[in-house]
Amino acid sequence: MVLNIPYSVKTPHGIKEAAEICLKCGVCCVIEGYSCPAQYDAQFKPTQTYVYDCLGHEEPSGNKNIWQCVSCHKCEEMCPYEVSPVDFIEAMKEQALQGGHAPQSIIGELMQVITTGYAFPITPNTTRQRERLGLEPVKLNHELGIIAEKTGLLELLNSLKEAQD
Ligand code: SF4
Ligand code: SF4
Repeated sequence: MVLNIPYSVKTPHGIKEAAEICLKCGVCCVIEGYSCPAQYDAQFKPTQTYVYDCLGHEEPSGNKNIWQCVSCHKCEEMCPYEVSPVDFIEAMKEQALQGGHAPQSIIGELMQVITTGYAFPITPNTTRQRERLGLEPVKLNHELGIIAEKTGLLELLNSLKEAQD
């Protein structure tokens, strides 16, 4: 059965209406080495792929599996029918975040990235290891923090964090 999914995407210019019409051919998930990396999770099969799971879920923004998508865009590249599962999944992540039901680990990771510019914590151990290897100390990058402040993401994350504490 074809999946016909209308959805809304938040853009810098407002809300845009979009739709993905997936023919369930499976190409985006079944060609090993070229297809979706989330498909490696044992819960997904060639007959019930990761992309079907995301596109066909009855409450897509509440589907915890959307957070397994690494936004690599392989699905989009592989799809012979110009479907963009990643656009849909990213829109669902946005909805989940706005609705306050993104996992705590994701909120923590977002905070980490926008406050330091790195996806991993810069610990004293990181500094020691870099010294041992003769590398410069890591320079924190605050540009993402500025963007997050201007777009309202920082305020949203702070309010979600407060609600969870
Ligand atoms: S963008 Fe997401 S859904 Fe698409 S191939 Fe990458 S991990 Fe899979
Ligand atoms: S390749 Fe395209 S049409 Fe085929 S299952 Fe994936 S998204 Fe759907």
